[in-house]
Amino acid sequence: MPAPFSETSFQPLARLLDYARYFFGGLLIVTAALLTWQHYGMEKVVDLTGDHFPVFIEDDRNSGGASVGRIERRGQDLVVHCLISRKSEWPYCKLGLSFLKGATGLDMSRFDYMSIDGGYAGPGTPRFAIVLAQAEEGLTRLDQWQTYKINQIDALDLPPDGGTLVVPLKWFGVAQWWKDMAQPALEHSAVNIDNVARAEVLISGGGKEGAHAFTLHHLRLHGKLITLDALLMGLVATWVVCAVGWLAVLTLSLRSQLRNSRAAVALLKTVNEALELEARDLAGQAHIDPLTGVLNRQGLRAALMSTSSLLADPMVMIFIDIDHFKSINDTHGHDVGDDVLRKFANVIASGIRSSDRLVRWGGEEFLIVCPMTNVYQGRILAENLRTALHRQTWPAGLHVTASFGVAQHRERDEVGVVIKRADMELYRAKQAGRDRVCAYIAADMTAQAAAA
Ligand code: GH3
Ligand code: MG
Ligand code: MG
Repeated sequence: MPAPFSETSFQPLARLLDYARYFFGGLLIVTAALLTWQHYGMEKVVDLTGDHFPVFIEDDRNSGGASVGRIERRGQDLVVHCLISRKSEWPYCKLGLSFLKGATGLDMSRFDYMSIDGGYAGPGTPRFAIVLAQAEEGLTRLDQWQTYKINQIDALDLPPDGGTLVVPLKWFGVAQWWKDMAQPALEHSAVNIDNVARAEVLISGGGKEGAHAFTLHHLRLHGKLITLDALLMGLVATWVVCAVGWLAVLTLSLRSQLRNSRAAVALLKTVNEALELEARDLAGQAHIDPLTGVLNRQGLRAALMSTSSLLADPMVMIFIDIDHFKSINDTHGHDVGDDVLRKFANVIASGIRSSDRLVRWGGEEFLIVCPMTNVYQGRILAENLRTALHRQTWPAGLHVTASFGVAQHRERDEVGVVIKRADMELYRAKQAGRDRVCAYIAADMTAQAAAA
């Protein structure tokens, strides 16, 4: 028989759901680890003063001054020697770093801050400014210096103890002088450092005449490999995708389990019905005599318990015993004896009413229970049956007769008493020569019969 339902259909799903626990546990750990790493580490540093970018120097001689600047590379350091002259009102020297490759500069918008590590020697103050000149689409023409947007931060001082100065990039603002000069459209007037063409460090030495030396050990950009926003977006998207996947698998698994449960219930129902039928069958068989197919003693007991109308008065019991049955067996064999028993039961069964019950009491003895029948009617029935036996053709050309004992149930008689009485009448019939009917008729019954 093919399996009516299969466990295997939802096993892979169930296994997936089992693994989901570990998967989500893992995802939680990865999430926490990434957030912690993003917060405390994940540093991205670009050293602007390494020799990746070309450097240049400018001084105020372009704008009518007389200060003279010069660059010296000392190992990793860049030293700006600036001879300040008060010829100009705003004397300066300018160290520049070029980032431009074609039209593409350096995207600094993904960085958080700039660190400056340097030293100053000279008669003035270590004050300086930084400019980030942005090449902006729709604004900048690469060959016109005025069209670069000037993001600037002024009045920076190197730490006196020579430590590192940290400048958040959000401190940069668009230089007012540049806005006055370039009159940019509104959309170009805010800080933008996503395509920086060059960075400039302006040194004025506090405007003091003389030789100033500004040493730059490092100028670095600091940021995160992944910004917090990008990381959060990525994590949320991952969680959403995983949760949706998990829900889909869960739904499929539940649906599959439901289907299997229904199949299991249907199977159990079928099995149950089959068992019930079988039980009923067995119970029925237990009540039937297998040789003759009529009720056996258990069958009679069950019939008496389940059908109270069987005992409805007046009720008659007829005991029957085949005459000289032993000699049939002895002469013709047991099989012929069986055939005779079967035929005998058939003849009797077809001679009684549907309300009567025929029982094989044992061996070649039978009992008929006749509800709503008095002893006289019982006697007539027995006589009819006796003569019916005479009319039959029997196996092996036999002539089969039987003796009958009839007794009527009387008020408050136990069933056993009635059977006993019928048995006694049967005995009388045997004694009287067999092939006859004897009935137990009490004196009061005769009176009743006469009255009726
Ligand atoms: P009586 O006229 O006095 O009743 O004599 P009888 O030979 O019929 O009675 P007895 O009780 O001496 O014999 C009954 C026989 O019935 C004995 C037994 O072997 C036989 N018998 C009982 N059950 C079966 C059966 O199922 N099949 C066959 N073939 N014989 C059976
Ligand atoms: Mg007998
Ligand atoms: Mg007998």
